[in-house]
Amino acid sequence: MSSQPSVKLIDGKAASARVLAEVRAEVQALRGDGIQPALAVVLVGSDPASQVYVRNKVLRAEETGIRSLEFKLPADTAEAELLALIERLNADAEVNGILVQLPLPAHIDENRVLQAIAPLKDVDGFHSENVGGLSQGREVLTPCTPSGCMRLLRDACGELRGKHAVVIGRSNIVGKPMAALLLQADCTVTVLHSRSRDLPALCRQADIVVAAVGKPRLIDASWLKPGAVVIDVGINRIDEDGRSKLVGDVDFDSALAQASAITPVPGGVGPMTIAYLMKNTLVAARLQRQAPRGARIPEDAACPSLS
Ligand code: NDP
Repeated sequence: MSSQPSVKLIDGKAASARVLAEVRAEVQALRGDGIQPALAVVLVGSDPASQVYVRNKVLRAEETGIRSLEFKLPADTAEAELLALIERLNADAEVNGILVQLPLPAHIDENRVLQAIAPLKDVDGFHSENVGGLSQGREVLTPCTPSGCMRLLRDACGELRGKHAVVIGRSNIVGKPMAALLLQADCTVTVLHSRSRDLPALCRQADIVVAAVGKPRLIDASWLKPGAVVIDVGINRIDEDGRSKLVGDVDFDSALAQASAITPVPGGVGPMTIAYLMKNTLVAARLQRQAPRGARIPEDAACPSLS
């Protein structure tokens, strides 16, 4: 299918390399002051995909000069034991960020665990203090994937003010925080979900489309207005032509006919998620600098402005 003459591929690998370089430079500056930001990554069980994610996070941390601390717990770890570890990490002034790899085994209450992380160390941005702060328009630690999408959008579109953004998907980790960040950037935001009616017609009104659904190639050119900027968060493994491959929620080849800029899958949003985890660790470290050394960061501590 013929594409728009000026369609631009949004290169998430290159963008993430720029973010990581910024983080590395800032980490070096902090180390000059005798501070090395540290990220604690907690993995419960031996889910193969989670193990790969954790390994990649640790590698990226090392590349940027962030100290990583890995805690690998057996799948039958009691919830109380995990909560006790988080409590210790909350109280440890040497630890700036805490990430608990999801999903957790079924016997552990995921929400209770996420709420146990001190908000100022919550580098995933999932604690209700940070969720609430984002929805109030305060600058707080925000979830990594939508934060990465915002950076890609700013790079691709420049000014976002006044643009109509359609977010497809309303999960707590992608869709809802994405909508909140776009609203904060003065976009007009429409959120679509599985109960929305006539999705293609609503989507065709969008200057910006962010797809976070988990349905392979759901969105094709007929959903897009000419010149739309498309951010495809979806990662779906399918079998095609006798081989297994990763595709997004957007039918990439079809969308090229209408979009002015689009992220590929893989190589679009994915690399940005990890880059923003590093950025959040750095931001968390900066926020905590004012706290006296060894002081426990209260769980209900309000997140000050990050600007
Ligand atoms: P969830 O399954 O939690 O949420 C999916 C959302 O899509 C829900 O809000 C659901 O609606 C909506 N939905 C489902 N089917 C349809 C449909 N046919 N039409 C419209 N809306 C629909 O997924 P996540 O948000 O966690 O992830 C979404 C995708 O992004 C997945 O492919 C995931 O792998 C990927 N992902 C990629 C990341 C990255 O780093 N690139 C990070 C995180 C996720 P309802 O609420 O009504 O059920």
